[in-house]
Amino acid sequence: AIEHTSRTAVVTGAGSRRGIGRATTHALVAAGYHIAVLDLDKEAAEDTAREVAARHGVAALGLAADVTDARAVDAAIGEAEAALPPIGALVNNAGITSPTRFLDVTPTEWDRIFEVNVRGSFLVTHRVAAGMAERGFGRIVFLSSVSAERGGGVFGGVAYSAAKAALLGFARSLARELGPSGVTVNCVAPGLIDTDITQGKLDEERKAAMIADIPVRRIGGVEDVADVIAFLARPESGYLTGATYDVNGGSHIH
Ligand code: NAD
Repeated sequence: AIEHTSRTAVVTGAGSRRGIGRATTHALVAAGYHIAVLDLDKEAAEDTAREVAARHGVAALGLAADVTDARAVDAAIGEAEAALPPIGALVNNAGITSPTRFLDVTPTEWDRIFEVNVRGSFLVTHRVAAGMAERGFGRIVFLSSVSAERGGGVFGGVAYSAAKAALLGFARSLARELGPSGVTVNCVAPGLIDTDITQGKLDEERKAAMIADIPVRRIGGVEDVADVIAFLARPESGYLTGATYDVNGGSHIH
């Protein structure tokens, strides 16, 4: 049996059935956390929470919130704080992508990509960071992307690569500020992972060409990413901060 700490991990965007967030909630239990799920989709968030509670016997709560909406984030985190042990970890996983070529991107699309990926991560982090610092413990993980490091070339276009690159600077800078308070901040940068984020828009031919270029010759699975996130969220990982962890099968070795 796992000995549980009295801490909760918040995972945003963990409703998606085949997504990285849902797999991460399961992996975080092994790191000693109870779970709060935030997602746009309330039913999906509740479904993940039920699944986690049933499978692992920990406390889990599914909450509806659009991470770009400050009041919704405040209310959802407030509910988690009232119902669960103190928040010890945050995984900023909610994200959207788009393959639109730069010359075709509208300001509206650009803003939406930044709103969800960057403003969303800002709002949730901002809401939980003070409590973590006060309690002297926190583990914050951002979902960046190999697109940020190598300038796209996977699925996401310029807007997505720029937004995911913003998170690298965000995490590094926050790591400096919060380090003295016992809070670590890191990024995980996945390569191509088998989820529904591309909404069927990645054709098989392109996928095969990408696999041929990946040293381990396969697309990543959600567990590949979830494991690294959970590793960073462990209490024992307190000397890892301000870093970017590549999970890409060797597709970007640098
Ligand atoms: P996914 O589409 O399966 O899941 C994303 C989840 O985020 C969904 O449950 C969705 O409802 C939720 N969400 C979207 N907008 C939201 C909002 N405004 N407020 C709250 N929730 C919102 O995606 P995934 O592939 O599991 O991706 C998870 C994260 O990993 C994303 O940040 C993504 O950019 C990043 N990532 C994914 C890949 C990949 O290949 N799948 C690669 C690199 C990085």
